[in-house]
Parts: sequence; C-alpha cells; structure tokens
Amino acid sequence: MIIDAHCDVLWKLWENPERSFFNSSDLQVNYEKWMSSPVKVQCFAIFVPETVPHASQFDVALEMVQLFKERIVDPYEKIVWIKSQDDLLSLGSNERGAVLTLEGCHPIGDQLSRLKTLVQLGVRAVGLTWNQGNAVADGIGESRGAGLTDFGRDVIRYLNKEQIWTDLSHVSYKGFWDTMQIADFPMASHSNAYSIASHPRNLDDAQLRALIERGAFIGVTYVTEFLNLTLVAYRKDVLRHMKHIINLGGECSLGFGSDFDGTDKVVTGLEDHTDYESFLSQIVVNNFPQDTVRKVCYENFIRTFPRK
Ligand SMILES: [Zn+2]
Repeated sequence: MIIDAHCDVLWKLWENPERSFFNSSDLQVNYEKWMSSPVKVQCFAIFVPETVPHASQFDVALEMVQLFKERIVDPYEKIVWIKSQDDLLSLGSNERGAVLTLEGCHPIGDQLSRLKTLVQLGVRAVGLTWNQGNAVADGIGESRGAGLTDFGRDVIRYLNKEQIWTDLSHVSYKGFWDTMQIADFPMASHSNAYSIASHPRNLDDAQLRALIERGAFIGVTYVTEFLNLTLVAYRKDVLRHMKHIINLGGECSLGFGSDFDGTDKVVTGLEDHTDYESFLSQIVVNNFPQDTVRKVCYENFIRTFPRK
C-alpha cells in the first residue's frame, strides 16, 4: 500500500476532454491502472496552465473540481473523496481514496473568497505558486525571488484556521522561509533534495531539515531532471533522494509525490501506477526496515493530514 501526494491527471482531462479516466493509455494514472496498483490514496491537483488568460483562470479551476467529481469520484463505487484524516483512517480494504489539491494560487488572483470557495469544495492542500510569481508569492522560476506578499500571509492564516496543508513545492526560496515562519501545516508535495540534484525545484538541506523538524510531509518526485539533472533517470535515482532525506532525519517526513501526468520526463521502470508494485517490492522494501517502509509509504501522509 502506498500514498501518492501529487499527480496532474485533472489537467490532462481538462486539456483533452476526449480522454477517458477509465482507461486512456496516454494517462499515467487512470482507473484501470490505479485499481491494479498498490496505490491506496492518490492526490489530484488542480493545475491551471499559465496560458489560460488571468480572467478565466478561476473558472478553469472550478471546471477541474467538476472533472474530479464527475470523471474520477462519482462513476466509481470504490473511489472515496477524502476530505479529512478520519476519511483516510476509515477507508475500507476494497476502497481507494482521492484527495483534491491546488497547484499554484494564480487562479484565485488576489481574492481570498475564491480560495475559500475551493476549500469549501474540498481542496485540502494549497500550493502557493507554480513557477511564476502570483499575488501570494514568487515561484521558483521568477527571477525577482520575492517572498510572501501581505495577501499571501492572509492566505496562509486562512489555511491555518481551516486546517489545510500549505504546499511549498514550486515556491521561491524566500517564499519558503517566509511561509515556514507562519504556516501551521507546511509540506512539500513533490520536491527532491538539492544536494543530490542541484535543480532549483529541489529543496536544499536547510529547507529539508526545517520541514523535518516540523514533522512535515516531503514527497519525493519522479521527474528525471529533479532526480539527476538529465532526461534519463532510474529507480535507483529516486532511492538516492529517499536515502538522503532519511539520513537528514526525515523518516517521519518522507513520502511520495509522483508528478504522474505532469511530466513526460519519466523514470525508467517507474513510469505509471502499474510500476508501483515492483518499485515497492524491489526497491523500497529491500532498502529500508519494515517500520520505515510503512511510514514512508502511507503513515507519514496520514499522520500529517491536517484536517482531522
Ligand atoms: Zn508541479
């Protein structure tokens, strides 16, 4: 059993409505693949591409909430919409959980009411930025490198009050540290270790240690460039990042955030849900003690899920 804290299937379904969540072969996560995999819970991100005009971005985010409900949750008896830790803990042995998340606050513009709407609709982790800057903070790709705005602080105070995760993957370096000072529920859904692969999307040891000290979730991700700075990577590269985070003391923080369907730079042998079985049995189980495997595969995610 494993929990995956990030994928971009909703974006793929939105981009091409002809795609079937049931069995489209060009989806790395679809119903058939998921049900044949050990993935117990999958997070689904609302990701509105920057190419969508600002005035329409919130509408597109709402369309993706609707896609999540109509194409992923409602048609399948086995799939349960997870909105709390209680929901996670009460999943039946035959059931799978789906969590709705937001990747980047650009669709809310500078209106907190829009974020409140998304949270009321079920969003349970909020990524502050994608790579660009927005009204909340700069993303890691924004050369200005600014931290949180005053509006961004309001956003985090609201997330604290509502017990919603503040997701730090993609945010600027300064934005990361500003957020760590005020967020009650920080996490990084899909980021790797900068000291292993010096990609700006990764977190350096000081950042990883700060998350670890807070007992915050850190999901390693399978984008080749974030693993080894090239377009080809293997499962042993994922393992290196896992081991590094564990060596920093992150046994109670580490988890997974695949970025399936968010990238075509996939890891050889870990290309979609169907590869999780062998990844678990051949790589994870062989390299860590049993109790660490349980923590990394699902306990850390469940323990840190903020809404009880
Ligand atoms: Zn991402």
